[in-house]
Amino acid sequence: MSEATGTGGATTATEATERWDLGRVRVTSVVEAQTDGIPPALFFPAADEGMVRRHAAWLPPGTADDQGRVGLRVQAFVVEAGDLTVVVDPCVGNGRTRSLPFWNDQAWPFMERFRAAGFDPDAVDLVVHTHLHVDHVGWATRPDGDGGWAPTFPRARYLYVGDEVEAQAADHGDDAAAMRADSVEPIFAAGLAETVPADADLGAGLRLAPTVGHTPGHASLWLDGGERPVLITGDALHHPVQCAEPDIDFVSDADPAAARATRRRLLAEAVDTAAVVFGTHFPTRPAGTVAPAPDGQGGWRFTPVAGRT
Ligand SMILES: [Zn+2]
Ligand SMILES: [Zn+2]
Repeated sequence: MSEATGTGGATTATEATERWDLGRVRVTSVVEAQTDGIPPALFFPAADEGMVRRHAAWLPPGTADDQGRVGLRVQAFVVEAGDLTVVVDPCVGNGRTRSLPFWNDQAWPFMERFRAAGFDPDAVDLVVHTHLHVDHVGWATRPDGDGGWAPTFPRARYLYVGDEVEAQAADHGDDAAAMRADSVEPIFAAGLAETVPADADLGAGLRLAPTVGHTPGHASLWLDGGERPVLITGDALHHPVQCAEPDIDFVSDADPAAARATRRRLLAEAVDTAAVVFGTHFPTRPAGTVAPAPDGQGGWRFTPVAGRT
């Protein structure tokens, strides 16, 4: 997949790996792909280009174009905290049979980028899935050479929120079944899976926090113990424009009212804690801080924190 593929935008594979040193915590974005020029209503049915353009004055460069079309990125965050190396939400993966044309049978150099960033799959301790959607699990596995799938990170514990596993098991759609078969069941079969509560303490300052709405068992990841708290959103937020417009639903939010309440609560917590927020699908500038919008305009604003490449 190298060009426009049904999202209305152009997908590129040129994103550089970027990393943020935040005291005792280091976060690296390993990009699978970013698509720019997407008509917002495709993923945010209540939004349009005019709504996005109203926020042009503060939206970070590279997150929307001057016509009000948005970018979305699929990326994994690799967290290094204490002795732990943690892969969060390992993207769509290559060679998967998926119903969305732009995610079907992909061939991205994701693992090449992962290694080029200095990471060794054998040295990953934890794999965290904020939720069980196809764009958050793919690189959990790799072809096993025999027509099946094997864990990509053979020494890692893979963590799943119990409520999310239960809810996902009730989804009998083609994608859900295919995802279980190629990205989840091989992990359980290998004995590497661990089911945890949505507020699990993972050690080394890492903890999950329930952020339901997008899916029934969705959890975000907080990292304490660095120079300031770090929050990895998962799909509680999809684009920085939702900071200003927290009531615009993502097209696949399972419980839109709960998702809106979660976005507002999470943004308020990010302000209260002065957290560095990593938006799992935020394009171009995925890390930043959040502040209330000025002059009673409502909502919040997202200001990027630059990493290094
Ligand atoms: Zn999702
Ligand atoms: Zn997603």
